[in-house]
Amino acid sequence: MKGILVTIDGPAGSGKSSVARQVAGRLGFVNLNTGAAYRAAALLALREGADLSDGPRVADLARRVGLDPGGASIDGKRVPDPDLRTPEVAAAASRVSAGAGLREVLLPVQRAAANEARDGGGAVVEGRDIGTVVLPDAELKIFLSADPEERARRRARQTGREGELDRIREAISRRDRQDSEREVSPLKPAPDAVVLDTTELALEEVVTRVLDLANGLRRGA
Ligand code: C5P
Repeated sequence: MKGILVTIDGPAGSGKSSVARQVAGRLGFVNLNTGAAYRAAALLALREGADLSDGPRVADLARRVGLDPGGASIDGKRVPDPDLRTPEVAAAASRVSAGAGLREVLLPVQRAAANEARDGGGAVVEGRDIGTVVLPDAELKIFLSADPEERARRRARQTGREGELDRIREAISRRDRQDSEREVSPLKPAPDAVVLDTTELALEEVVTRVLDLANGLRRGA
C-alpha cells in the first residue's frame, strides 16, 4: 500500500522541524527536511568561493547535493548537521534559494526522496514550497505560522544564543522577506493547506492537531 505524504511548510522558527520530527516519529513515518538540501548547496557554494548571485554556477554545484531522511550529502558524503546550521549558511541558503536554476536542480531530488519514503510507509516533508510546488498531490498539507517576535525567541532558545535576540530577529525578518518575496516558489500556503498559527500553542498541541488530521486521513483511506 502506498503511504501518506504530509507536508509542513512555514517560515523560520514556526516550529516546522520540531513538529515534523514528532509527527513522523509517532506515525512511524520518515522525516525529510528539504531545507538541508538548500543549506548544503549554499555551503558548497561558500566552500568553492562561488559568487552567490551567480545562479547558473550555484545550480551547477547543486548537482552534487543529495537528500535522504538522514540529511543532506555532497558528492555522496553526509554533511554533518552542525556544518549546515551556522548563521552564515542559513543566510546564504536563503539568498541562493531565490535562484530558479537551483530550485530546478533540487526539485527532482526532493521528489525522489519523498516518493521513496512514501513507498516505505509514509513521510513528513518540511520546507517552504512542499505543498505548493514539490508535492502538490500530498494527502495532508500543513502551513505553520507564528508571530515574528515569538519565532526569534524560539530560534534564540534552540541555538543557545539568547543574548543575540536582536540579531536573530533581524536575520529572521530578512529571511522572511527573501523567502516570501521571491518570484520562484515563494513561501505561501497551498490553497488546500491547513494553516496553524503556533504563536500561542505549545509544541505538543501543534503535534496533536497534525496527528489528528493525519489519523483522520488514514482511517478514511
Ligand atoms: O528550513 P531551513 O531554514 O533549513 O531552510 C533554509 C533555507 O532554504 C530557507 O531560508 C529557504 O530560503 C530555503 N528553502 C526553500 N525551499 C524549501 C526549503 C528551504 O527555499 N523547500
